[in-house]
Amino acid sequence: MVTTVTDRKERIAALDYDYALQPKQPLTSCNLCGGAEFVVLTHRDRYSYPAQAHACRRCGLVFLNPRMTTEAYGRFYDGVYRRLVSAFHGRLIDARTIQDEQREYARDRANFVRPFVANSGARTLLDIGGSTGVVAHHFAREFGLQGTLIDPAPLEVEQAQQLGLQTATGLVEEHDFGRQRFDVVIICQTVDHLLDVAGTLARVRQLLSERGLLFIDIVDFRAAYLRNWSVEDAIKIDHPYYLTEDTMTAYLVRHGFEILRSDYAADHLHVSYICRHGVADDKALPPPASAEELLREVRYVQNAPRR
Ligand SMILES: [Zn+2]
Repeated sequence: MVTTVTDRKERIAALDYDYALQPKQPLTSCNLCGGAEFVVLTHRDRYSYPAQAHACRRCGLVFLNPRMTTEAYGRFYDGVYRRLVSAFHGRLIDARTIQDEQREYARDRANFVRPFVANSGARTLLDIGGSTGVVAHHFAREFGLQGTLIDPAPLEVEQAQQLGLQTATGLVEEHDFGRQRFDVVIICQTVDHLLDVAGTLARVRQLLSERGLLFIDIVDFRAAYLRNWSVEDAIKIDHPYYLTEDTMTAYLVRHGFEILRSDYAADHLHVSYICRHGVADDKALPPPASAEELLREVRYVQNAPRR
């Protein structure tokens, strides 16, 4: 199917979603390093919504700023998000149709974590932002784990329930798990959607059992803009955060996770990590030149002729 730019613009306009009118909050300190000096990288996203992406000059973390409030994101995920992505791609993408893709992803990621999870004695699994539960269900079956899933989208949680998973609708930072701890925590294709990466990782550290394992993956921001040779095309209102290997590693070290293995996905876009408890270094930063190199590369991509 050929998708022209005009078709795409019309399909997105037909959603009648006014991003500019949504309530937003300005961010004044970097979620990773606490820095306050930002560089505005872009002024619109891939859907042409007026969304600015900022980079922290100290650590190189990239994020939307200002950013929609929690309530505005709640409404976005409850009815707009899947329709927007469908309009962008020109085909139906919903809680049902994504399941084939998720099954393949689940098999692939299970192979990555197998050397660490299989025969480790792990018994419980928590999937944060687990959508329809396909991945959690696969992991639970593959490794004999009792699976729990938490996600803010009610329709997707409903599907997850049908797979026999324990479920909770909401955000992991706010949900009360009581004294429950988990041996495996997975955050799959989700970290870029979070509103508070630092808060979530701090929570995961509490929820992870002593010998627990964390799986997390990112859309590598550098891969995303180099792929289409466009920084704007790598920005989308569904992703408050744009992580790189340097910023994700710093996040993990700050929050006390030791990376056991990382993996460049076959799609050349995602990078995955499997971690265990380590020593937290709350001052950890990306390598000194990292932010400067990122800014220089972004500028180069913005100014070089489009390939
Ligand atoms: Zn920073």
